[in-house]
Amino acid sequence: MTDDDLGELRRQVRDLVGEWRDGDRFRPVCDAWLRSYDTEFSRALADRGWIGLTWPREYGGQARSNRARLVVTEELLRAGAPVAAHWIADRQIGPAVLRYGSPALRERYLPAIAAGAVTFCLGMSETESGSDLASVRTTARPDGDGWRLTGGKIWTSHAHRSTHAYVLCRTGTGGDRHEGLTELIVDMSAPGVTVRPIVDLRGEHHFNEVVFDDVHVPGDHVLGTAGNGWTQVTEQLSFERGGMERVLSTYPLLAATVDACAARRDADAALGEALARLAGLRGLAWRIAGELDAGQAPVHAAAVLKDLGTEFEADVNEIARTVLDVEPDPDGDGPAGLLAQGLLAAPGFSIRGGTTEVLRTIIAKGAARAPRRGGDELRELADDVLGGHGGDPDGLPALWSTVHGLGWTGVSVPEGAGGSGGTLTDLAALVRGMGRHGVSLPLAETVLAARQFAAAGRGLTDGVATVVAGDGVA
Ligand SMILES: Cc1cc2nc3c(=O)[nH]c(=O)nc-3n(C[C@H](O)[C@H](O)[C@H](O)COP(=O)(O)OP(=O)(O)OC[C@H]3O[C@@H](n4cnc5c(N)ncnc54)[C@H](O)[C@@H]3O)c2cc1C
Repeated sequence: MTDDDLGELRRQVRDLVGEWRDGDRFRPVCDAWLRSYDTEFSRALADRGWIGLTWPREYGGQARSNRARLVVTEELLRAGAPVAAHWIADRQIGPAVLRYGSPALRERYLPAIAAGAVTFCLGMSETESGSDLASVRTTARPDGDGWRLTGGKIWTSHAHRSTHAYVLCRTGTGGDRHEGLTELIVDMSAPGVTVRPIVDLRGEHHFNEVVFDDVHVPGDHVLGTAGNGWTQVTEQLSFERGGMERVLSTYPLLAATVDACAARRDADAALGEALARLAGLRGLAWRIAGELDAGQAPVHAAAVLKDLGTEFEADVNEIARTVLDVEPDPDGDGPAGLLAQGLLAAPGFSIRGGTTEVLRTIIAKGAARAPRRGGDELRELADDVLGGHGGDPDGLPALWSTVHGLGWTGVSVPEGAGGSGGTLTDLAALVRGMGRHGVSLPLAETVLAARQFAAAGRGLTDGVATVVAGDGVA
């Protein structure tokens, strides 16, 4: 099968999921990718080559695209299928091993993950290190041909069931704290590893506290280069944040809500809007998958998807709460059960994998560093607003009002002085647009006057101003 056959792949996944669901081998739940754990189901996916789908064939993969993987994950998540056992390894540990692992690590772990035989948990967070991941204190010190690992991780999902852990730890001291971080692969059955359960709001045990007490880690179990952990983990986060699991955690509830509306032959505006948002989010996930296929690490786009996606997941709960005529029931089946699951899982949506505040900081920094494309955007805007208005003097008052409303009369005037900010280059892009469309408006002189007013410490005046050279401003 090639990547032209994504429709066929989607159908195959739907068939398998349908078979398992109809055979009562799983019950669709919200937040299944974190909470619904079934190694047998994971092995059924592995048998079809759907774990490690993008990896090279020599490492047990199918050499398919990230877009193909998106099709598989989307269908599994939509169904609320039990995918938690392989999720972390398939999503991010495998790709990290592929990118940074030695040939020996690749040979040892990738085929085993793809077969569903090795499962990973993610040892990043510590009691004092969550958002500020660079402050981790778990330490590995060199010991003969390996390392001795000491410290503790917290919120480690499925540590009690995983065969292995990815652990971010400190191997160097002094200097920049982003230096001296190292990624290790740790066997969870090694002497000195202790796992203690943490029960969540739903009364479920999925995450844990993990203690490493002088645990021996073989020297060849360093992922990439010792001390380069920060760069490597930052890239890994685009795999962690850029998938549809940040959008579809409450999809089974959304589907139940749509079904309820359809059964009542009812329509709900908020539900319609949610479906439109979902389409936009799918588009973004598709773009991120394409960038991963191109060998990029779309850290910023992934942060945007996670921020918007987790907001969407939580909004689905609210929409369902108002549309469905049921009380949430944690022990219930159908919509009542799904609503309870969605509501009780929701507090974690915007925390796990990086909090909303942290993501927005990443997005803002990315935007600040992005090359300025204002000229092109303003050109397009000018064409949109002014197109078709040339040569119609009667339309000018209305057009002026539009232009003023859009803030064009304040372009290049500081926002603190009541303007719209930007530069004279921005103004020039708009004035050029007027020339292109033959529109005659006193935009340049009004802005120049406004700049004079601002420079004189006076606010902007409304309406049209004319600059009379030599005689001041009229
Ligand atoms: C369901 C669930 C599963 C998880 N599974 C795992 C797992 O498997 N492995 C793992 O390693 N971790 C896991 N985590 C932990 C998760 O990654 C952390 O909770 C998260 O990174 C936030 O860290 P923290 O809890 O220490 O909060 P803190 O970092 O202490 O943040 C507390 C508050 O301060 C805000 N804040 C912090 N720094 C800034 C800043 N610079 N600017 C603005 N605001 C800031 C945060 O946004 C937040 O609101 C899981 C968490 C949840 C909820």
